[in-house]
Amino acid sequence: MHEVSIAQGILDIITANAREHGFRRVNSVSLRIGRASGVVVEALRFAFEIVRKDTIADNADLLIEEVPLGGVCLDCKNNFTTERDYILECPLCGSVSFKITQGRELEIIELDVEEEYEGKGCNKNPGGK
Ligand SMILES: [Zn+2]
Repeated sequence: MHEVSIAQGILDIITANAREHGFRRVNSVSLRIGRASGVVVEALRFAFEIVRKDTIADNADLLIEEVPLGGVCLDCKNNFTTERDYILECPLCGSVSFKITQGRELEIIELDVEEEYEGKGCNKNPGGK
C-alpha cells in the first residue's frame, strides 16, 4: 500500500517546514490530488492517521481537493475533463491525439499551522542590515 509512504512523505515535509519556520502544531494540511495520480484518497487518509501519531500533526485534518482527469485535444482544440480515471480518446471528437493537462497532481497546497509559543518573546534575530 504505497499510500503509507506518501503519508510519510507528507509528514516529512510538514516536519521539515515546522523546523524551518518554527511552528509547533499543524491544524490542517490541504492537498490537491488528481484522480489519475494513483492515490486512493481513503487509503491515504487512513495511512495519515497512523503516521501522524505523536507528531506535531497528530490532530491535523487532511483537506483533500480531488482534481478530475482532463486534457486538451490536439485535433478539435477543446479542453475536456472526465469522471473516469483514464482517457482513451477525446470525448468531443474521438481523436486519439490529446495531451493530458490535469489529474495527476499530488501536491501540498497549504499548511494551516499554529505559530510559536505564546507569551515569552522568543529569541528572534532582528535580522540586521
Ligand atoms: Zn477532440
